[in-house]
Amino acid sequence: MKEEEIRPKEIFEEYLELARQDTIRFFSKAAIFPVNCPACDEPGEFAFRKSGFDYEQCPSCLTLFVSPRPEKKAFDLYYEDSPSTKFWATTFYKATEEARREKIWKPKSRLIKEKIEGRLKPESPIVDIGGGYGVFSEEMGKIWVGPIRVVEPSVHLSAVCREKGLDVLECFLENLQPAQLPTGQKCFVSFELVEHLQNPLQFFQTISDLMNENDLFVFTTLSGLGVDIQTLWEDSKSVSPPHHLNFFNPNSIKTLLARVGLSTIEVSTPGKLDMDIMSNNRELIKDRFWRNYLEWADSAALDEMQRFVSEHLLSSHMMVVATK
Ligand SMILES: [Zn+2]
Repeated sequence: MKEEEIRPKEIFEEYLELARQDTIRFFSKAAIFPVNCPACDEPGEFAFRKSGFDYEQCPSCLTLFVSPRPEKKAFDLYYEDSPSTKFWATTFYKATEEARREKIWKPKSRLIKEKIEGRLKPESPIVDIGGGYGVFSEEMGKIWVGPIRVVEPSVHLSAVCREKGLDVLECFLENLQPAQLPTGQKCFVSFELVEHLQNPLQFFQTISDLMNENDLFVFTTLSGLGVDIQTLWEDSKSVSPPHHLNFFNPNSIKTLLARVGLSTIEVSTPGKLDMDIMSNNRELIKDRFWRNYLEWADSAALDEMQRFVSEHLLSSHMMVVATK
């Protein structure tokens, strides 16, 4: 898989430009508060400033996070209805939906099935938190017997899910009532959401409170110790306020889960794009080893390196399986 297939450069640049304007519109007047490390609650140390947001890194667990961070209300307004989220939900996603379906969601639904099979009954329900465009639910629905319910707060995205005939609840997780959830042992999933959360502890606590014993929670998020983020650092396009505020890592995410009474079954980094992202941004990489490596390595060498990176928890795309 290539980055260009799922993030065509021109449309992605236009999206980033809209996001830059939204950052000013939605966040310049918002109240901001300093926060401690969202994983272990230690005070962080200043790392860099980007688009008006300060990032800190935790000296204990190496989580990278925005602090001070704007109040929750600003993010809620932004995600419910803003030009860049609308552009993402319509133009951007439409242009990439089929590529994403084939390259991301089909393999991801197969991987999720592998992770939960044997731990759940085949007819167990799945609750997709932040279901977005609903493509995961569509694809998972083809290979999973149990019902799938989408929870999606965005006006534009939940409308898309409804048009597809998916079972969607248009609300924020914290407003979800246990009675709205399917009964029996179930699996919560959330993809590429945790990095966006204004208050990760509260989110995980809410999930934990909604979970019964032996329910599963499977999620993907960005690892700040992933090789592309480590080498590109503040120049990484993944480090993109106001979207990405939290970069946990394979260790620190376990700390956070333990704080809300969840235990980690497995952490993996099944990413496929790190080397491609680094190659596309080679001129921004300061580290001599990687700059030179990316210059001389052929595609077979890059594939082999990507495989190694993924297998050794070094990709920035992280998947976690947790239970209560
Ligand atoms: Zn920490």
